[in-house]
Amino acid sequence: MRATLMYAAGDVRVEDVPDPSIVEPTDAIIRVTSACVCGSDLWPYADLEPTETGRPMGHEAIGLVEDVGAEVRTVKPGDLVVMPFAFSDGTCAFCHEGLHTACVHGGFFDGLATGAAQAEAVRVPLADGTLYALPVGEDDALMPSLLTLSDVLGTGHHAAVVAGVKAGDSVAVVGDGAVGLCGVIAAKRLGAEQIIIMGRHPDRIALAQEFGATDVVGERGDEGIARVRELTGGYGVQSVLECVGTERAMDTSMGIVRAGGAVGRVGVPHYEAIKGAQQMFYDNVTVAGGPAPTRAYIGELLPDVLEGRIDPGRVFDRTVDLDGVSEGYRAMNDREALKVLIRP
Ligand SMILES: [Zn+2]
Repeated sequence: MRATLMYAAGDVRVEDVPDPSIVEPTDAIIRVTSACVCGSDLWPYADLEPTETGRPMGHEAIGLVEDVGAEVRTVKPGDLVVMPFAFSDGTCAFCHEGLHTACVHGGFFDGLATGAAQAEAVRVPLADGTLYALPVGEDDALMPSLLTLSDVLGTGHHAAVVAGVKAGDSVAVVGDGAVGLCGVIAAKRLGAEQIIIMGRHPDRIALAQEFGATDVVGERGDEGIARVRELTGGYGVQSVLECVGTERAMDTSMGIVRAGGAVGRVGVPHYEAIKGAQQMFYDNVTVAGGPAPTRAYIGELLPDVLEGRIDPGRVFDRTVDLDGVSEGYRAMNDREALKVLIRP
């Protein structure tokens, strides 16, 4: 089969690799019908040390089950399934608590042991706990939106959940990438009254406003903080959705959260420490978040997608086949594309 491999920063190739096969009796093989490039794939695209074997890429997919191991019970060949970016058994203490990304038998589709999703097929460990069968056909018009259940919609939702968003709240979303835009959807879905998007790409801001953002702050740093405080009577927001992962984004988040509020962070942190321990303490500020247990959220979010109440698939603004994946990375890295859908 053909699969995407990253050999070094900026060096993405699609090559022939061995077809995946059942290794454990709990595995499934899915033929990928839709995958995508993630904002987090841009981190190695910027700084991956050269590797001779190449790193298989991709952790978001919808596909058709092609084969299952002897112990798989909940999905069968022919099922259309969504694959969360982490695999999990669905049975351990953490899975029962809804934190599938901490599953004691789980892990991430990091590409090394498990294969990866920007490919014609992928091996999915712990298929019963991981995969979610979709009640639609593979040509359904909702496919882009359904694909966001794999990562970005669930991740934006997680930011809102851990930041404690509830009806009537003021919320700020730091970052106008696909996760931030899904954070806007999530905040509105949970009833937030004021949703401030912090970003400066005009097309993304326009989409954020269509998704429910009520205010836009394009300024950064101290200016951005001052502007958010102005918009919230000087207090700051009750919930901050930090959807970037840089030190500046975290500094901004800590600068705009009000006393008693919370910062929900879902951007992979590229900083050593969170500043502002004194302020966190005296203002009773909560900082929460981490890798989203998107598997836990599919059941809750799916009906809103199927019934058209939310349309997160609009974050995809470019579609490529496998031959176009390398160009897709470049376009996302250069901020020409917001999020790239791959149809292998
Ligand atoms: Zn588990």
